[in-house]
Amino acid sequence: MLPESILREAQSEFFELSGSGMSLLEMSHRSPLYDEIHEGARARSKSVFEVPDEFEVLFIQGGAMLQFSMVPMNFLADDVSGAYVDSGAWASKALADARMYGEAYAAWDGSDVSPSRMPDQGEVEIRPDTRYLHVTSNETIGGVRMVEWPEVDIPLIGDMSSDYMSRPIPWDRFDLVYGGVQKNLGPAGMAVVFVRRSILEETSKHLGTYLRYDIHADNRSLFNTPPVFTIWMTGKMLSWIESEGGLAEMERRTNQRAAKVYDAIDSSGGYYTNPVAVRDRSLTNVVFNLANAELETRFVAQAAKNDLVNLKGHRSVGGVRASLYNAMPMAGVDALVAFMDDFQAGNV
Ligand code: PMP
Repeated sequence: MLPESILREAQSEFFELSGSGMSLLEMSHRSPLYDEIHEGARARSKSVFEVPDEFEVLFIQGGAMLQFSMVPMNFLADDVSGAYVDSGAWASKALADARMYGEAYAAWDGSDVSPSRMPDQGEVEIRPDTRYLHVTSNETIGGVRMVEWPEVDIPLIGDMSSDYMSRPIPWDRFDLVYGGVQKNLGPAGMAVVFVRRSILEETSKHLGTYLRYDIHADNRSLFNTPPVFTIWMTGKMLSWIESEGGLAEMERRTNQRAAKVYDAIDSSGGYYTNPVAVRDRSLTNVVFNLANAELETRFVAQAAKNDLVNLKGHRSVGGVRASLYNAMPMAGVDALVAFMDDFQAGNV
């Protein structure tokens, strides 16, 4: 979701931007007007995410999935490997892609763990000569969130696509953090990547230019034509977050939204069930099941008739999934909870 105010603002500025005689979509990305938008979005990414100065912010096309390749391409070498917390569907994809470029292994395998959860401290096994540990802070499909960052003495790299701006990031632990913007920050079209400046000297220089983090950093993410519309909208979303109270307020709302839906699940007497260990329940993707697939289908269809849409669980797992990203108003959550009660009452 995007806040209605942003969509309306974009609509009103769409045809002609700031008296320039043209739309943003027609403008040179080297023009002063675009540069202001670009720099504004970059600066706000750092301020709103509360990123320390040692990090560079990058806007890179290809979504989070391109980062599954760019991370190993830039960091792996013949003598070092990459460790992955294999916590679910997205972590597994990241690991599989890394194996295309070098030595990568699962430092913890959660594929057969029930209920689903993240590893406990001490369960993550790091081999010698490991360059980084890759974690997925929130498994979007499984609805599992990493609450305790693994205490290992190698740098962490994090895919935070589905819980960006839902809680503070412990920057001292990470060398690189990335996430596609389309869930919490804007329309699809790029990943926002935060990379520790000191490691840019160590990243591989034997890659096509677009694949090199240092090239993006040296060129303020303007090495080639950037996704101007996505950057424009992301800048607006970051300003909105700022004006709503920033990261602390986003975190408060995230906790409140999730608590309401989990309360509804936990107080349903087993009518709704959540398959995740309580500690690791996602706050942005609440997944739940009903007694059988037929009832779940009916739930999703009736919900849609009540304007509660996109509740179908991912096609690989089924069930129901409520994605509660930053722009989701509390009224949307309240409407879902009321619907869950009504549905249960009418379908016992
Ligand atoms: N990682 C996670 C945790 C995701 O949820 C997604 C998308 N749902 C991706 C990676 C892939 O992102 P993209 O579509 O931006 O490539």
